[in-house]
Amino acid sequence: MFLSGLFTEFILKPLDSLNQEIIQCRKCPRLVEWREEVARVKRKPYRDQEYWGKPVPGFGDPQARILVVGLAPGAHGSNRTGRQFTGDASGGFLFPALHRAGFANQAEAESKNDGLVLKDMYITASGRCAPLDNKPTPVELNTCQPYLEREAQILQPKVIVCLGKIAFDRILKIFAVRNLKFAHGALYSIHPSREALILHPLHLICSYHPSQQNTLTGKLTVEMFDEIWKKAKECANKDE
Ligand code: SF4
Repeated sequence: MFLSGLFTEFILKPLDSLNQEIIQCRKCPRLVEWREEVARVKRKPYRDQEYWGKPVPGFGDPQARILVVGLAPGAHGSNRTGRQFTGDASGGFLFPALHRAGFANQAEAESKNDGLVLKDMYITASGRCAPLDNKPTPVELNTCQPYLEREAQILQPKVIVCLGKIAFDRILKIFAVRNLKFAHGALYSIHPSREALILHPLHLICSYHPSQQNTLTGKLTVEMFDEIWKKAKECANKDE
């Protein structure tokens, strides 16, 4: 009872209020205009759907030991569905892998109400609004960074999996770490940081982003991706 009260007070409530704040954010004029225009104009196959058209908060298990950080919402993916990696090709590669690894109860991710549940994992992004050409500017990423910082502080993950170099650079910035190189499969240990309010050592794993550009060209294969989640699980269990 006491522990569940602490969990509500220090994790569920702050996470919920952070997510409410994110959803209402309008700090980046270029992105606000774009995400809302995409939601208004829509893509033909989704014309009868109501697009989310707002910043996309993180989602998953609030007790997760593993935090996954992506780039930003796809214009017709999570900008449409309102949930990270949901309804686009990147998610179509990610969630089957998470299902195989035991982090997701199903491989499909089509809408917020599709029954998907994550276990021991929370998925978030470097930027919360769909960017033009999939490229948020450095200023926009900096503006959005405090949300990711607060998420990491609330969740206190043991493992962070960075999907792509932009997510990796963002995490290095948050932890004020330098001289680490992004390479698919690279694994680093980050020491507790008073600055980032991280209370214990954490494992940082790099992966190529599961974008179509990477998966269709074979830069990121199913086997390579499965290895990432195996490594994440090993790291999460390491010190127990
Ligand atoms: S990208 Fe982040 S900071 Fe910018 S408007 Fe969206 S939620 Fe706000």
